[in-house]
Amino acid sequence: MFEKVLTQHINIPESQSIEYYLKHGGYQAFQKVLKSMSPDEVIEEVKASNLRGRGGAGFPTGVKWGFVPKDDSKPHYLLVNADESEPGTFKDRLLINGNPHLVLEGAMIASFAIRSNHSYIYIRGEFVKEARILEKAIQEAYDKGFLGKNILGTGYNLDMAVHRGAGAYICGEETGLIESLEGKRGWPRIKPPFPAIEGYQHSPTIVNNVETLACVPSIIERGASWFKSIGPEQSPGPKLYCLSGHVKRPGVYELPMGTNLKEIIYEDGGGILDDKKLKAVIPGGSSVPILRADEIDVAMDFNSLAAIGTMLGSAGTIVMHEDTCMVDALLNLLHFYRHESCGQCTPCREGTNWAEKILHKIESGHATEKDVELLGEVANHINFRTICPLGDAAAMPIQSFLKKFGDEFRAHVGVGHCPLNSRL
Ligand code: SF4
Repeated sequence: MFEKVLTQHINIPESQSIEYYLKHGGYQAFQKVLKSMSPDEVIEEVKASNLRGRGGAGFPTGVKWGFVPKDDSKPHYLLVNADESEPGTFKDRLLINGNPHLVLEGAMIASFAIRSNHSYIYIRGEFVKEARILEKAIQEAYDKGFLGKNILGTGYNLDMAVHRGAGAYICGEETGLIESLEGKRGWPRIKPPFPAIEGYQHSPTIVNNVETLACVPSIIERGASWFKSIGPEQSPGPKLYCLSGHVKRPGVYELPMGTNLKEIIYEDGGGILDDKKLKAVIPGGSSVPILRADEIDVAMDFNSLAAIGTMLGSAGTIVMHEDTCMVDALLNLLHFYRHESCGQCTPCREGTNWAEKILHKIESGHATEKDVELLGEVANHINFRTICPLGDAAAMPIQSFLKKFGDEFRAHVGVGHCPLNSRL
């Protein structure tokens, strides 16, 4: 029987308060770490759990922490990435709303593990309410002695603060986030050096996603082997799946990692809206390759989705039924990526602009077969040629939509208008 550990208190109004959190076993893991574990022991436990980052990349969290130098004299920083902006992804906002102290406790443990005395929560500018919730929770943690100087008499010091972004998707990329936090334009940096060696203020920095950090307290309390017993051993643990689009019950579902996609859509999500036929699913947020309806009998974990040519990403699952025009759907995505491109690299800045223009032409029935070919070429010239993954995030949907629904793109050319009578 699967037991929820991230969202079990989410709909209870008082769950935002530290009193409620303490009453339900909160801050026990942080106290355990402070009183009986060394930073290296914490890193080893998280490594042993096989926790993989929930922000999109899926990098092993403990391994990432282990990259931070152990004997340097520079300050270290733990940055919480709460800049959730990927279309189809809305899980971190839910966690912050319903369980802010769980996020803080995870950040405190991570800070201790990487020998950091400073942590910032970088939150998306539009999340005004959530920023206030976090600020209040941080103040409560200071008042109870979980933050500040000589925490619980252990000699460990940690300060934490919230920093609000200004609503740019690119600041969710870790080096764009760091630049923005430093007060500069949020332009991603060329890597290496990686942030764990040279990040915020040129010092070792770890950037972790909200959901990733929320998994950490239960790993410390219940042990790595408990965490590994949930879902596939190579990418285990509880997982928040965001379900949106043409489903009867959209929402955030906490399920074991590796839950079958078909089950998520038809059992948790209640099936397709108006009992129509399923056409396509984007499994991991708008930037990952799309699946056809006949490809959804698959486990929703990093390795299983990679094996069929797509990605778990942020687990933002977007469902589309039979009436969806795939050209229009792709146009919608490209409009977003063109708008959010920071403009630093030519393939991304120019390519997303051209792709959006060509898609407009196809959708409005003014394109030729050559334009459809050109769209694919534009995507090929963006992929793997840019500083940050936004370029790939724009190119991969184009390539996969053309591969799986190319006939529909060509049908627009053939009839001179959108055969599905979409909005253009
Ligand atoms: Fe900016 Fe796009 Fe280059 Fe990323 S890929 S750095 S968003 S121009």
